[in-house]
Amino acid sequence: MKLINFSIIAATTAFLFSCKTHQNIEVKHHNEKTHSVVHWDYTGANDPTHWSNITDEYLTCAGNSQSPINIEKELSKKHTGHNNLQLNYAKSLLDILNNGHTEEFVISKGNSLVFNNKTYQLKQFHMHTLSEHTVNGDHFPLEIHFVNKAEDGTYAVLSILLKEGKKSLFLDKYLAKFPKTEGEYKSDEILDINSVIPNTEHYYHYKGSFTTPPCTEVVDWIILQDNPTASKKQLTILHDLMHDNYRPIQKLNDRVISFQ
Ligand SMILES: [Zn+2]
Repeated sequence: MKLINFSIIAATTAFLFSCKTHQNIEVKHHNEKTHSVVHWDYTGANDPTHWSNITDEYLTCAGNSQSPINIEKELSKKHTGHNNLQLNYAKSLLDILNNGHTEEFVISKGNSLVFNNKTYQLKQFHMHTLSEHTVNGDHFPLEIHFVNKAEDGTYAVLSILLKEGKKSLFLDKYLAKFPKTEGEYKSDEILDINSVIPNTEHYYHYKGSFTTPPCTEVVDWIILQDNPTASKKQLTILHDLMHDNYRPIQKLNDRVISFQ
């Protein structure tokens, strides 16, 4: 019965995500700057094929180094150096925000990631159903993006691709608490962020963009090769809540994907 109620609420919520609502809210997504949102969406007149035409601010969405991309394992270049990724994530207080496009976990200060000797501060993480990146042409049912920002304004996004299997203990704890409508859930709980992160030894890396407008090309993408699981029931609840909030695959052009 609980599940049925949840689905009804989720469906109603999706219906209420009107253009007007988007224009009036302030969101923080990949781009951590707070700004009034010019309406964009995953379906309809303002779908991803039209993002670059919506406003001049979104022109970069038609750029040459866009994300997400498909990762062809056979074509990826082997990294010659040692693992250049170090996570300094710890426990954090959480606010969970439904910004109309995704469920976002806003992280308190004090969590950082070091990649190629550059330090980035973790700002938030959020989810996409299905995955945005594909591997050998296949989507995963869920992708989680950990958004880290350096002092110079560039970003490193750590991405986790989840597959269907045993239930996720992280989702088990938080799924019922995700806001169903735009607004913020103030959590009094503390999350050990490391409990959400799988093995970081092997990953793909390439240079790309935010996967949402304004699609700024300032992102080092680090996509972990280890794929944790979530149950079919958990994945269904998440998809009912967020629907298809993934951008289609973009052209690789002359970029190189390396793997570690
Ligand atoms: Zn994302």
